[in-house]
Amino acid sequence: MIHAIKSLAVESLMEKANKVYLANFPAETNFERALFFSWYCSIRDCKFCYMSTQPNDNKYQKIGRRTTESLLAEALLIKHLRWEVGFLSGGKGAYTADGFLDLVKKLNIIFGEKVWINIGAIKKEELEKLQPYIKGVVGSIETVNKKVHDFVCPSKPVEPYLGMFNDATQLSIKKAITIILGLGETEDDFPALENLIKQYGIDKIHFYGLNPHKDTVFEGFSAPTKYYQAWWIAKTRITFPKIDIQFGIWDDRADRVAFLLNAGANSISKYPALKAFGTKSAFELEEQCKLAGRKFKGTLTKLPELDWNNLVDELELDKDLKQKIKKKLNIYLKNMGKSLEEHPTDCH
Ligand code: SF4
Repeated sequence: MIHAIKSLAVESLMEKANKVYLANFPAETNFERALFFSWYCSIRDCKFCYMSTQPNDNKYQKIGRRTTESLLAEALLIKHLRWEVGFLSGGKGAYTADGFLDLVKKLNIIFGEKVWINIGAIKKEELEKLQPYIKGVVGSIETVNKKVHDFVCPSKPVEPYLGMFNDATQLSIKKAITIILGLGETEDDFPALENLIKQYGIDKIHFYGLNPHKDTVFEGFSAPTKYYQAWWIAKTRITFPKIDIQFGIWDDRADRVAFLLNAGANSISKYPALKAFGTKSAFELEEQCKLAGRKFKGTLTKLPELDWNNLVDELELDKDLKQKIKKKLNIYLKNMGKSLEEHPTDCH
């Protein structure tokens, strides 16, 4: 009975949030893909994260990175499947500052626009150099409940991100945060989120839901319900009518897409789109967008008929690099149904 009353309360909040959404945005939605340049993490002790379960001598300790052609080929897929690039992410140590700047410039060429980046807290001098090429910076805040944060992210304090947000404001760079729901916070923590958004002028928020990984302290925990995830989205939408809200779902949660869009979210992420491309779950996701009365921009189910080699030829990039991109792109296109990802990390 209490559960039913709570569900009704959430649905009534969602109705209001959806009205606020439609008064501020078109009835559309899209998928946002995070682009990873490496899987390295120097922290590896966030309690919810797959990385925290890995032995010290494993591959996640090595500062390896993907090849430039592989990243640019994926970027071309993102562009021509008409997804958005959520952000460029990876272990910062994988590149020198100049090498990273060069990668970001190349991505600007592919996308024809600036990109969001999520590479930890960046110092102001580096932000200044990146500023002409980045749309915004993402801070992996994870939770606004201080006690929960101290426990789940013992080596990833919030303060450096807050400093980065202040620098970003001075440089007219947009700011986003990631929040994982289900870590131990409650609805009572909403005012802390509200303050953070107001105080630092946050433009975008990524709401993820806990994915209880095996061997972490969260093994056996439940993922947050769609009602709980919707409550946070709806409260945020009503409080901040123009903020960009994105929600993350895994491929087993495609059935909650309509519900979460109806709570006032803008777009969808985390979904393993390359691996799941054209599968039943991808069709379900697109169907869910229709159910919510949203036009889904782009496709998760149909490869467009394009002259991909020609698209690469048209890019203002080095000839050798273009040849390498073509090779990689053709492999990706052939293997579209297979997994291109191993284990997703939790802060990106
Ligand atoms: S959540 Fe991010 S920072 Fe924390 S261990 Fe995982 S990958 Fe590293």
